[in-house]
Amino acid sequence: MTAPCRLAADVLIIGGGASGLMAAATAAKGGKSVLVLEAGERVGKKLLATGNGRCNLSNLGAEPPAYFGDVRGRLLAPEALLARFAELGLACAPDPEGRLYPLSESASSVLDVLRLALARHGAREICGFSAEKAQKTRQGFLVTAQDGREAAGRALILACGSPAASAADGYALARGLGHSVTPLLPGLCPLPCESPALLKGLRGLRVKCEASLLDGETLLARERGEVLFKDAQISGILAFDLSRHLRGAKKPVLSLDLLPGAEDISGLLRARQALFGSEPAAGFFMGLLHKQIGLSLLARAGISPSARVSGLGRNEILALASLLRGWRFPVEAPRSFAGAQLALGGVPASELRENSLQSRLCEGLFLCGELLDVDGPCGGFNLHFAFGSGHLAALELCSAYI
Ligand SMILES: Cc1cc2nc3c(=O)[nH]c(=O)nc-3n(C[C@H](O)[C@H](O)[C@H](O)COP(=O)(O)OP(=O)(O)OC[C@H]3O[C@@H](n4cnc5c(N)ncnc54)[C@H](O)[C@@H]3O)c2cc1C
Repeated sequence: MTAPCRLAADVLIIGGGASGLMAAATAAKGGKSVLVLEAGERVGKKLLATGNGRCNLSNLGAEPPAYFGDVRGRLLAPEALLARFAELGLACAPDPEGRLYPLSESASSVLDVLRLALARHGAREICGFSAEKAQKTRQGFLVTAQDGREAAGRALILACGSPAASAADGYALARGLGHSVTPLLPGLCPLPCESPALLKGLRGLRVKCEASLLDGETLLARERGEVLFKDAQISGILAFDLSRHLRGAKKPVLSLDLLPGAEDISGLLRARQALFGSEPAAGFFMGLLHKQIGLSLLARAGISPSARVSGLGRNEILALASLLRGWRFPVEAPRSFAGAQLALGGVPASELRENSLQSRLCEGLFLCGELLDVDGPCGGFNLHFAFGSGHLAALELCSAYI
């Protein structure tokens, strides 16, 4: 029998995504020999798809209060991440909302500088290595791939991400080394509409509004921004950010205020009635809302588009006013990770040492990125945590462990 192929390095990193590549670049710069073990045929595949190919890699507001999960002592300041990228040769700039992008506006330049840093410092990428088992040994760790290949290292960084847009994950590896995993749910994802017929005629429209996510009549969360109507889903940044609050809701409803801040909507509609009295109701919202949205509101209020505006009664005006304030769509919890940008849940940060990314349960094991039960809103917060925690894990490993 031939012995399995054995690879060896100071540091093994499982996962060649945002966190794993940054960890590899930092550990290799720190003088360690590094192996990145990646299940896919190449590293950084998800990274290339981020920010619609532009890679929204951080946010000027990436501070602990922006996150769900305990990031204290595990979050790099935005300026420090920018400095790290500058060191790698990547220039970045914020947009007016504070979202940070590479100046090139191209995710591939982020991947390029990381891979160049790996190559320059001698870190190796082993692709097609789907890690199935990770064991603690006397010398460190032994990782076995599905195809039987083995890799040995003195320290191990788990940077395996989540099932969102990925075929592989590392939860079994974390469990095998003593960790638990909190329940996993799709996060930052569109909200499936319980009655897709309510979205008829709206597909492709974007609407700026204030959206409230309710469970029955209980408010779960409220945000301002933009939603995007799709065939059977309500999407867009606003819907993505609200999606995490669906957890446990029994009768979730998305309610859109189309005129946030407007005080007397009935008065506004009565003034429009005087202005457009001789027009058909189809034109009632002309100059205020997109035509299709106006038609959809009329349909909800049971008003024929051919009815005269002047003939609308008090109750019909009140019904339209209340729809403008709260245009309701019963929604459901997403059933799969398709379309999700990340997983809610993961290895709890409480299983890490205080202010650290090192496991409290297994000496020499570090965990970073989305594998941890940490998530942030849209806008660069999740890549920021992935890159930053990968960097901090590697710094800690280099200075305190080996
Ligand atoms: C379409 C899309 C767009 C996004 N856009 C943004 C954005 O613009 N800004 C933002 O902040 N966030 C964005 N995100 C979220 C962001 O991509 C993730 O938060 C981030 O990639 C997490 O980094 P990570 O290193 O933890 O995991 P990943 O980037 O997922 O990397 C994990 C890697 O580990 C590998 N792996 C897993 N298990 C194994 C195993 N057992 N053996 C070997 N290899 C394994 C995987 O193949 C993968 O390459 C987006 C996500 C998606 C899906």
